Amino acid sequence: MDIVLYNTKAKEKQVFLPIQRDHVRLYACGPTVYDRIHVGNARPLVVFDVLVRLLRAAFPKVTYVRNITDVDDKINSRAAERGISISELCEQTIFSFHKDCKALNVLPPDIEPRATEHITQMIAMITGLIEKGFAYEAEGHVLFSIEKMPDYGQLSGRSLDEMVAGARVEIAPYKAHPADFVLWKPSKAEIPGWDSPWGRGRPGWHIECSAMSAGYLGEEFDIHAGGLDLVFPHHENEIAQSRCAHGTAQMAAFWVHNGYVTVEGEKMSKSLGNFTTVEDAIQRHRGEVIRFSLLTAQYRAPFDFSDAALQQARTVLDKFYRAVSVADRADIITDLTLLDTEFITALADDMNTPLAISCLHRLAVEANKGQLASARQLLSCASVLGLLTDENWFAGEADNRKATFEIERAIEARNQARASRDFDEADRIRDQLAEQGIKLLDGPDGTRWERL
Ligand SMILES: [Zn+2]
Repeated sequence: MDIVLYNTKAKEKQVFLPIQRDHVRLYACGPTVYDRIHVGNARPLVVFDVLVRLLRAAFPKVTYVRNITDVDDKINSRAAERGISISELCEQTIFSFHKDCKALNVLPPDIEPRATEHITQMIAMITGLIEKGFAYEAEGHVLFSIEKMPDYGQLSGRSLDEMVAGARVEIAPYKAHPADFVLWKPSKAEIPGWDSPWGRGRPGWHIECSAMSAGYLGEEFDIHAGGLDLVFPHHENEIAQSRCAHGTAQMAAFWVHNGYVTVEGEKMSKSLGNFTTVEDAIQRHRGEVIRFSLLTAQYRAPFDFSDAALQQARTVLDKFYRAVSVADRADIITDLTLLDTEFITALADDMNTPLAISCLHRLAVEANKGQLASARQLLSCASVLGLLTDENWFAGEADNRKATFEIERAIEARNQARASRDFDEADRIRDQLAEQGIKLLDGPDGTRWERL
């Protein structure tokens, strides 16, 4: 079975074969940890988690690296706004990020390097680029000179004029060409900085991924993944730095990009304010429901996020869970060649998850007619998508309802205690709920509660 992926670099679907026959090396750009992730940020996590699960089933070894960007101007300003230290903000955000990934059933990557732990490698790479004549120093900055690389712009297919006009490049007096980009920039005393041959400073964003991917996967590797908005300038610049530093013909053989999550047709983004954090979404819907709904669209197409889409996903998951209830988890098929042919053919064809999910519907119908083999296939196919893994899907729901009922009963008892001026008892109930992680909010319309 061939796995076919749309390669942004080639602008077509291509059969995927790793450079080293038995070892797939894959890098995905991870989060900049200044804030909670939203559903738009969750899409690449889920999509590339499915890709990694598929590759792991198809090849003997997969190394998946997804970085954490923990040095960035957004981090500096957010920490200042919140009045906490930069490291405190990063630690809190990374903790929440891992929690969100777990809720979405996104497996941890093999290696999760942090940018701040690889500054030495970045400085070495920048030094090499200066020595080879691809970069220059100006006013404490080091810049990559795009005119030194004749085929700069191949990934995005943009001309230099378009790049400059696209306004995504910062015009600055010290740049030889307006599209030259920063490898290193000076840091004032109050923000993070490291000693370097060009003075105390910090790396540009693009060099982080070039240094970390080379460190863990080599100078040329198989797949570089990320969201569509990273094609230019981030990935274009990663390619420029890596190829010029290493003298290679390519950085990655395949460049795979996921499409946007939209809300009523508009891209979900922090700047537009139309976002839902994963944390908020999983308060109302379970993580698996969000994961499943994200997979109902092909990964390169836009996915429109709505409550209706999530409710629909929930109904379908309930149906699938009922259909697999007769199958034994110990019997899950892991050999791709033994999986439902239509399902695996769809998934291997540039991760056509909508078609693959339509096969799950067929298997569920067959399973409901008493065909045990179909129930087993359904469970096995779903596991490649990281779905139907919750053994207590329905039990969890009953527990939730019971817990909600008990909280509401306790609030009622507290209200009665307050009405009869028994404030000790009222406080005791409030404290007891607090111990269970339930916070009460008294307002003019009564008492609301939330989980801490
Ligand atoms: Zn990156």
